[in-house]
Amino acid sequence: MDDKIIWGLSEKGIFTVKSAYHADLGIKNQNMGETSSGDQSKGLWGRLWRLTSLGKVKLFLWKALNGILPTRSILFKRRVIDNSTCPMCSREEETDIHVLWDCPAAVDVWGEDCSPVRKWGRNFGDFTTLWSELQSKLEEGKLHIVAEVLYGLWRRRNAMVFEGKFKGPCVLIQQAVRDAEAVTLAHEKPRENRTRPVETVRTVWKPPSQDYLKVNVDAAVDSKRGKVGIGIVVRDFRGEVHVIVAAPRQLTRNASVAESLAMLRAILLCSELGLTRVQLEGDAKVVVEAINFRSFNTSWDG
Ligand SMILES: [Zn+2]
Repeated sequence: MDDKIIWGLSEKGIFTVKSAYHADLGIKNQNMGETSSGDQSKGLWGRLWRLTSLGKVKLFLWKALNGILPTRSILFKRRVIDNSTCPMCSREEETDIHVLWDCPAAVDVWGEDCSPVRKWGRNFGDFTTLWSELQSKLEEGKLHIVAEVLYGLWRRRNAMVFEGKFKGPCVLIQQAVRDAEAVTLAHEKPRENRTRPVETVRTVWKPPSQDYLKVNVDAAVDSKRGKVGIGIVVRDFRGEVHVIVAAPRQLTRNASVAESLAMLRAILLCSELGLTRVQLEGDAKVVVEAINFRSFNTSWDG
């Protein structure tokens, strides 16, 4: 089962694993990045968080909207590579708007018959402008398909760069449509099917310092159902919740192993989101001490 990443929820005070499992999508608009502000950004983020897409698709969009997708242009500016040319067309600089919209390889995909944006032009300048336009013009179902296509374009680009594989435009867009339908169907399943942990542990929450985010981690063992529930919540100094992850895992009977799994998942989450100024907080003393007194490289043997 995939981890459920819940974005932009606002809740102050006490966090429990139970609250992570029972939390619902899209209660409040919340901007995790430091990019734009005001009404425009509220609209921008709000619709993204409410989208019925998988966490991995939202994570990808979030990165693109914050300008941190590792395109060749970004890697060139960071002096990681010495060439910013697009690996697909070898003609222009590979920026995010290029790879996702302007590149001839992307134009082919968006021009397919089942594309919701078949007749759209090319003059958007940057990805944030494009996404704002998509959000304002498309209804939920179509926006969902577009989100899947954008994610599919980025994955295809990576498969090309790292594995030398290429997927044709028709295959890519049809798969995106199927993925969007499958996620929508799964989302409509009755609530009773969801895994619920039986034990919850309460943590009294103290805010982090102003320029940090605090990551609280908790694990609960449900031995009857053979599952461990992992809850991760990321909050800023005001107590505003940025991300919640509910991550079911196969059963381990050892509580500190469960807490270790939760901590490991939290560290991976911070790495996925590119968060560096974070404070990690968990309940299991032994795990927290292990993290505090050793470097990550030696603490996690798998
Ligand atoms: Zn290109």
